[in-house]
Amino acid sequence: MSRSAHPAGPRYADVLPEAHHLAPPADLNTLDPRVWSRTVSRDAAGTATVGGLDVKHLAEEFGTPAYFLDEDDFRARCRAWREAFGTDADVFYAGKAFLSRAVVRWLTEEGLNLDVCSGGELSTALAAGMPAERIALHGNNKSAREITRAVEAGVGRIVVDSFQEIVRVAHIAQKAGKRQRVQIRVTVGVEAHTHEFIATAHEDQKFGLPLAGGLAAEAVRRALKLDGLELVGIHSHIGSQIFDTSGFEVAARRVVGLLAEVRDEHGVELPEIDLGGGLGIAYTPEDDPREPHEIATALRAIVERECAAAGLAVPRLSVEPGRAIVGPTAFTLYEVGTVKELPGLRTYVSVDGGMSDNIRTALYDAEYSVALVSRTSTAAPMLSRVVGKHCESGDIVVRDAFLPADLAPGDLIAVPATGAYCRSMASNYNHALRPPVVAVKDGTARVIVRRETEEDLLRLDVG
Ligand SMILES: *Cc1c(COP(=O)(O)O)cnc(C)c1O
Repeated sequence: MSRSAHPAGPRYADVLPEAHHLAPPADLNTLDPRVWSRTVSRDAAGTATVGGLDVKHLAEEFGTPAYFLDEDDFRARCRAWREAFGTDADVFYAGKAFLSRAVVRWLTEEGLNLDVCSGGELSTALAAGMPAERIALHGNNKSAREITRAVEAGVGRIVVDSFQEIVRVAHIAQKAGKRQRVQIRVTVGVEAHTHEFIATAHEDQKFGLPLAGGLAAEAVRRALKLDGLELVGIHSHIGSQIFDTSGFEVAARRVVGLLAEVRDEHGVELPEIDLGGGLGIAYTPEDDPREPHEIATALRAIVERECAAAGLAVPRLSVEPGRAIVGPTAFTLYEVGTVKELPGLRTYVSVDGGMSDNIRTALYDAEYSVALVSRTSTAAPMLSRVVGKHCESGDIVVRDAFLPADLAPGDLIAVPATGAYCRSMASNYNHALRPPVVAVKDGTARVIVRRETEEDLLRLDVG
C-alpha cells in the first residue's frame, strides 16, 4: 500500500507489519497465570504481589532492575518433573539456565540431578553440596583442567563430544586411577521446531557426533577400547523451546537404532539414554507448553516401543530440562525512566536495565510479555516497545506489547518468564551492574545473588 493512501501519515499497519497480529488484550491489568509464576497476583490496591510481597516494597528494598524468583514455584516444578519420570529415570536440571548455590540446594533437596558445562558451574554445584555422582559435565570443548576437576570430584558422568575428548577423558581418568562413566553425545538429524539459531540437532553444528556417516558408531568403537572409560550410554539434545514430542520421537528411534547396532557389533547393551532438554515454556499467553507428566508419558512410550522393536532391554532414561523448570519462576522488575511517543510509529518505553539483563530478545528475537505492576490502569492500550538504557539500538527487551497509555516515569513494569537464560547470560555492557536475584517465599524475600557494585567492577580493573 502506498504511503499517499494515508495523508495523515503512516499507520501502525504500514510500518509495523510484524505487529499486525497483535490485538490488545481484553484487560491490561490481568496477570495471566500462563506466563506469571504461581504466587503472583494483585492485592486490593492493584499492586502486583509475589509470595505475598508487593512489588513496590520489593523495589524499595532491593532496587530495580531485579529478578524475583518464586521459590515455591521452582520447587513445585522440580517435584512435578521428578514425579513424572519416577525412580527408574533421572531428571538433570540444566544449570546453564540459571545456577546459584541456593538453586543447587533446592535441586538437591527435591531429588534432581544437575548438568554443568563449565568449571565455574561445577564449582558452584560442589560448593553448594550437590553430591558429585549426581552431576554431569557437558560441553564441546572442556579444558583438561575442567575434565581433571570433574574426574577427581567423581562426577556421575561426562558427556563426551569429540574423538579427541574421548582420548583426553580416558587419559585423565587413567592417570587418576579411575574409570570415568561417559555418554557419547550424538546428533540425530532432527531439527526441533524453534528459532533457527537455537535449534541444535541438525548435523551441521558444533555439538555432538552425527549418527549419519557412522561418526557416532566410530566414537562408540573407540570409547569401548579405552580402559579409563566406562561407556554407559548415548546422549541426544535436539533443541530449545520445543512444544511437541515428535522431534524426541525421531531422536529416540535413532538413538535406540544406535544401541541396537552397538549390541550387534560389540555384544554390549549400553544401559542409559539421555534425550536432553529443550522443553518449551510460555513467554506469552500464545505459547502452549506440555506438562511434565505428558512429556514423561510420551518419552517413555517412545523408548519402550523402540526397544521392544529392536529386542533391547529398556535403558535407564534421563532428561535435562533447564528453561522448563526455572524459566516461568521469575520475573524482571524494572522502573520506567522515559516514555517517548513517536507519532504514527510507536511508543518507546525505556527501563533501567535492558540487553545486559536480558539478551534473548536481541540474540534470537525472543518474545516476551510485559505488564504495569505498581498499579492498575483504565487507560487505553498503547502499542509499546520496551527498550533498555544501553548504547545499542537493538537493545530491546519486549519488541511489541501493549501497556496503558497513562504509563509514566516512576511506574514499575515487569517482564515475566525471565528465570532462564537472563541472569545467566547477563553482561556488564556499558559497565552495567548485573541485577540481583531475590528468592521470594511465604512473605519473605532473600537475596540469593546480590547486585553487583561499582567496587565489583573496579576490583577486576587492575589499573
Ligand atoms: C541447554 C541444554 C539443555 C537445557 O535446555 P533447556 O532449553 O533449558 O531445557 C539440556 N541439555 C543440554 C545438553 C543442553 O545443552
